[in-house]
Amino acid sequence: MAEHGLTLLSAFEHELYYAGALERIGWGYNLDAIRRQGKFAEGFLFALDAAGVEPETFLPEYGPRQYEVTTRPAVGIESADRAVILRQMARAVATRLGESVSFAPMVRPDGGVGNGVHVHMSLCDLDGKPVSYDPKSPTGLSETAGQFVAGILRHLPALCAISAPSVVSYQRLVPNKWSAAYTNMGVRDREAAVRICPLSEIGGRDAAGQFNFEYRAADGAANPYLLLGALVRAGIDGLRAKLPAPDDDRGVPGDLEDAAWAARGIRRLPQSLDQALRDLEHDEAASNWFPEALLDAYLRYKRSEIEQMQGLTLDELCAKYGEAY
Ligand code: GLU
Ligand code: MG
Repeated sequence: MAEHGLTLLSAFEHELYYAGALERIGWGYNLDAIRRQGKFAEGFLFALDAAGVEPETFLPEYGPRQYEVTTRPAVGIESADRAVILRQMARAVATRLGESVSFAPMVRPDGGVGNGVHVHMSLCDLDGKPVSYDPKSPTGLSETAGQFVAGILRHLPALCAISAPSVVSYQRLVPNKWSAAYTNMGVRDREAAVRICPLSEIGGRDAAGQFNFEYRAADGAANPYLLLGALVRAGIDGLRAKLPAPDDDRGVPGDLEDAAWAARGIRRLPQSLDQALRDLEHDEAASNWFPEALLDAYLRYKRSEIEQMQGLTLDELCAKYGEAY
């Protein structure tokens, strides 16, 4: 980033399944869903605060027993440190309460939605001044941020091998699950792989300091360090190539045929881990982001994981990943 006079500010937004919450149909986003999770949130938020992770929000999500937690952004690699600490704190607090928590991408096949880990990003100059926002651009992206996001979109299929690296990840990356299914960017679009997040200018709040773009095709099976590193490398690729800023390709992707997306230069994301690994191998630039030994070990490890999961039903897969993550 330094070669472009930039630093990255980022924050990992986590969704989780808390087994100790009481379940009722129709309780998505409900105030009572906060009461139904008992003492978990207060212990969890206290622990995050004490560990310097700077929690910002904790709220009920759409799925059964599903919650979302956000933290303040941090410069450089610290956001990945925070993601690791956050997961450990969630586990520790749940265990103390005799319960369990899972960040797996799909814990309950009947739940309708998965658990995402969204990576919010914005660029600053070396003095810490935000440089991602241009109020005159139709998407809000400055020229620099447009190049960075275009790099991410260009390498998205390969990135999925790192950001969505489990067999069940691909149950989540389908249309109409508010995750991501295509290599598109959309303004305030929860179906887009990269979403331009909403701003609030109420009371004269500064827009440039809030403006951020969100990578949505990631989940809790991803190693936060590899994920952050890969996103930065993809973004740098876009900066070096001075790629044109992406358009606002909103809309429910499931409503359009793949051919109609292709006409706009937008591709379907890989639909299995196996395909994502092949996309990574075949993306020459992306496969060079990693030391050879690391890439080789990663691909072998992930392929043996695929082999071990073969023949399992979706329920069995979800149960296994639910426990592991
Ligand atoms: N649960 C959705 C996902 O799998 C995200 C919902 C949201 O926009 O927060 O990514
Ligand atoms: Mg959410």
